[in-house]
Amino acid sequence: MGELAIYNTLTKKVELFVERQKGQVTMYTCGPTVYHYAHIGNLRSYMMEDVLEKYLNYAGYRVKRVMNITDVGHLSSDADTGEDKMLAGARREHKTVMEIAQFYREAFFADCGKLNIKTPEIVEPATNCIPDFIRVIQGLLDKGYAYCAGGNVYFDTSKLEEYYVLSRQNEEELMVGAREDVEEDFNKRNKTDFVLWFTKSKFDDQELKWESPWGVGYPGWHIECSCISMKHLGEYLDIHCGGVDNIFPHHTNEIAQSEAYVGHKWCNYWFHVQHLNDKTGKMSKSKGDFLTVSLLEQKGYQPLVYRLFCLQSHYRKPLLFTYQVLDNTKTAYEKLIRRIAALGRDGEVQQAAVERYQREFNAAMENDLNTSQALTVLYDVLKADINDVTKRYLVQDFDQVFSLDLTKEPEERENSQGNAGTDQELAAFVEAKLEERREARKNKDFAAADQIRQELQDRGVRIKDTREGTVWELI
Ligand code: AMP
Ligand code: ZN
Repeated sequence: MGELAIYNTLTKKVELFVERQKGQVTMYTCGPTVYHYAHIGNLRSYMMEDVLEKYLNYAGYRVKRVMNITDVGHLSSDADTGEDKMLAGARREHKTVMEIAQFYREAFFADCGKLNIKTPEIVEPATNCIPDFIRVIQGLLDKGYAYCAGGNVYFDTSKLEEYYVLSRQNEEELMVGAREDVEEDFNKRNKTDFVLWFTKSKFDDQELKWESPWGVGYPGWHIECSCISMKHLGEYLDIHCGGVDNIFPHHTNEIAQSEAYVGHKWCNYWFHVQHLNDKTGKMSKSKGDFLTVSLLEQKGYQPLVYRLFCLQSHYRKPLLFTYQVLDNTKTAYEKLIRRIAALGRDGEVQQAAVERYQREFNAAMENDLNTSQALTVLYDVLKADINDVTKRYLVQDFDQVFSLDLTKEPEERENSQGNAGTDQELAAFVEAKLEERREARKNKDFAAADQIRQELQDRGVRIKDTREGTVWELI
């Protein structure tokens, strides 16, 4: 095992990674909220977390990784004010919440598969763990860290010695954030308190509700990750991952409630991936116009081109998505594949060269997962004065982490990178949007109709109104 150094949001430093139990790493990943397709920004986070897990494996650790699926309780704001994302998704598509969850969960793992993102060893939907949430919330109430008000159970952030550990925001900054909330939740004792369990939500039309000691209701979003992590990985965690938008309030609240519950430090390393942005700013599902893997495929990009696009930049730097850079990456990827395919297969692996380049590869990855430097090592191997068999051996070796299918045979590539199914997916999406637009026009809501036209345009679909109805084509 080497000397991996990673940036830890908890200490704001690049630190040597030291696992709690020799050779074993426990890792928790905040999973998707399954109310819509994952956009390629979300997938950047999952991809870099996948690289971390694969590099840990490469370096000789055994990794046990858990991911939740948020299928209940994720409000768009932290108070009882924002819209429930799952409910909004169900309404949008005239389906039940569980149907929406099932559909987008499958779509998420299909996208991950196309990007060679490994499914974590344990995947747990929040709706599977209601008794666990209730037990922990009761524990927090018993210890005086939680209180009931207006029918909901809240976590009392004033009971902690240190609440701002992860985000290092001062109280004043947090108050600014809180003021931006659409409405205030007057049940809270402190502005930064958050809901653990709702029984009297403003969203009383919530489809999924469960019995609890505090009445029929449903859990808040933050409690699910703490509980699911503790359920499978115990009271101590090595690494917790997510995108940077999760630092506050989600991860800050996870630390607060977990440490209040277990009574000691919970997680040692916090790994956060910076955002993928487009020209208008952070890509986000709620904006409506976002890029998916299927759309990239429709436009003729193999999904792994996007994986290479991400690996070329450091996970802690914001990444701007442009088609120009993606086009360059596509050319680079195809060239790389051709060059590797042309490598001969005769001869003996040159051990000294293997060791030298593995050392360089490790040095790059141990330096806070410097994937772009590691790719440079790959190119150096291809240029090096060593035999083809050694080159092929090293490419295969590094690809355990890159997962770019660098040595896959052409026939296998055809099968795995085909985009069968995505045409149907896109068609279903467009048809649903056109139906929404017809409805909007019927109600003379032309602003909404125009917005749908724009949304489709942003996803690469042009629509035309004809006498026979609306037709569409790919741009
Ligand atoms: P969600 O499904 O919205 O809960 O988000 C899933 C994951 O994607 C979380 O780890 C987020 O922090 C992350 N994420 C959200 N937006 C972006 C973005 N634009 N770029 C990178 N990661 C993101
Ligand atoms: Zn989480």
